[in-house]
Amino acid sequence: MKKHGEDIIVARGVHKYFGEFHALRGVDMTVKTGEVVVIIGPSGSGKSTFIRTLNRLEPHNSGQIIVNGIELKDGSNLDAIRREVGMVFQSFNLFPHLSVLHNITLAPMKVRRWSKTKAEKTAMELLERVGIPEQAHKFPAQLSGGQQQRVAIARALAMQPKVMLFDEPTSALDPEMIKEVLDVMKELAQSGITMLVVTHEMGFAKEVADRVVFFDQGNIVEEATPEQFYNYPKHERSKLFLSQIL
Ligand code: ADP
Ligand code: MG
Repeated sequence: MKKHGEDIIVARGVHKYFGEFHALRGVDMTVKTGEVVVIIGPSGSGKSTFIRTLNRLEPHNSGQIIVNGIELKDGSNLDAIRREVGMVFQSFNLFPHLSVLHNITLAPMKVRRWSKTKAEKTAMELLERVGIPEQAHKFPAQLSGGQQQRVAIARALAMQPKVMLFDEPTSALDPEMIKEVLDVMKELAQSGITMLVVTHEMGFAKEVADRVVFFDQGNIVEEATPEQFYNYPKHERSKLFLSQIL
């Protein structure tokens, strides 16, 4: 059994509106350091919105969010939060005009004030970790989707975040590239990094997730171990959803 530490993310009664639309309806979630939590649920259920509130890409309207002891509110603490929370998107979001190496060194040099030498050394170690050190001097457009996503993971890790958020990181990939990205994510999970991952990849969830959290209509409907959730879902909406994806 992995040991889990203190609370690193606490969300209490989080609500979010887009105009009239009530996208998050009182979400409660606590994540401890070292935990790997998989978030699943139908399209439009608020999964992306929720994880985006955790680094304030989306401000919430009410309720409380505390990340690494810092409460998210107003515009304050934004830098402190973004430093501690790494994010990987479905669409990679690399800077197209920068080399792979430069994509990874940019934030640590700017935000953490690392020297170029230190930032590049760390970037190369991370490229080794994600299995593509030979791509360091290429530009994103010269890489496959799976390679670009691995660069995006290395870039997020370069800031040494306390938490990594992944929003459907393999959904935009061709099937043969999904495994190479999931393998990297499994290695991170096993190394003890705290991760929140929106994904419908059941194999990943079964292998490394401590918990699966099922979202529907802006709230958490069911929460269980992967074993419990996939084999014995309790709620009608979870059962229906699983019957559609499996
Ligand atoms: P999921 O990631 O589970 O598919 P999202 O969190 O992206 O769902 O979206 C939840 C709901 O909020 C959807 O109905 C979506 O259309 C709506 N929504 C998300 N972002 C915005 C936005 N910026 N403006 C208006 N509506 C939005
Ligand atoms: Mg989404």
